[in-house]
Amino acid sequence: MNFLETEQYQYLEKELLEIIHLFHSRGWSMATSTNYSFRNPEPNQNTYTISRSGIDKLKFKKEDFMLIEAEGTPLPTYQHIKSSAETLLHTYLYQNLETQCVLHTHSKASTIYSLIHQKDKIAKITGFELLKGIRNITTHEAEIKIPIFQNSQDMKQLVREISTYYDRNQETYGFLLAGHGLYAWGNSIPEAKRHTETLEFLFECMLEMYQMHRIKE
Ligand SMILES: [Zn+2]
Repeated sequence: MNFLETEQYQYLEKELLEIIHLFHSRGWSMATSTNYSFRNPEPNQNTYTISRSGIDKLKFKKEDFMLIEAEGTPLPTYQHIKSSAETLLHTYLYQNLETQCVLHTHSKASTIYSLIHQKDKIAKITGFELLKGIRNITTHEAEIKIPIFQNSQDMKQLVREISTYYDRNQETYGFLLAGHGLYAWGNSIPEAKRHTETLEFLFECMLEMYQMHRIKE
């Protein structure tokens, strides 16, 4: 696994590590929750680097990453280590959408917002300048649709549901799991970060607006 020593790989690893610590400092990844990954550079692009399970994100270090194959199984060196239970969601995104990096948060805003809208199955957001943080959006007048799936511990079933949606709708770069959190991705680590931050900001704004509305009533 020589590529792990290349400058290119180590740069990606450092970039993701900084994001994990940043997201933890914002309260988006409490305790050992959440998981993160990136597609390894060519010619190893069908393997992925992913955070291993059960590590406190405050203390997460580069040794806590592991390598998995396209189906989510650990590469030989890592067979004694458990990746996240949600690994299949990452591998689905890499294999089916244009994805280089997948970030998953358990923020308060995405948890509450997804519960409020779970019956709608889709949350629609418009009118915010920050919508331009999403790929190909150039105006605050755009409307984004974020799908909300029921939370489940059955990952194969969840992947089936998610793929039914994304077979027809490829223009969103994130989805919510009700009462659980946000998955967002991008064609680079910085783009995945930008999509996550944009969506988290929008959920926070929407929640504050609901609260203000309720106080007025
Ligand atoms: Zn999760």
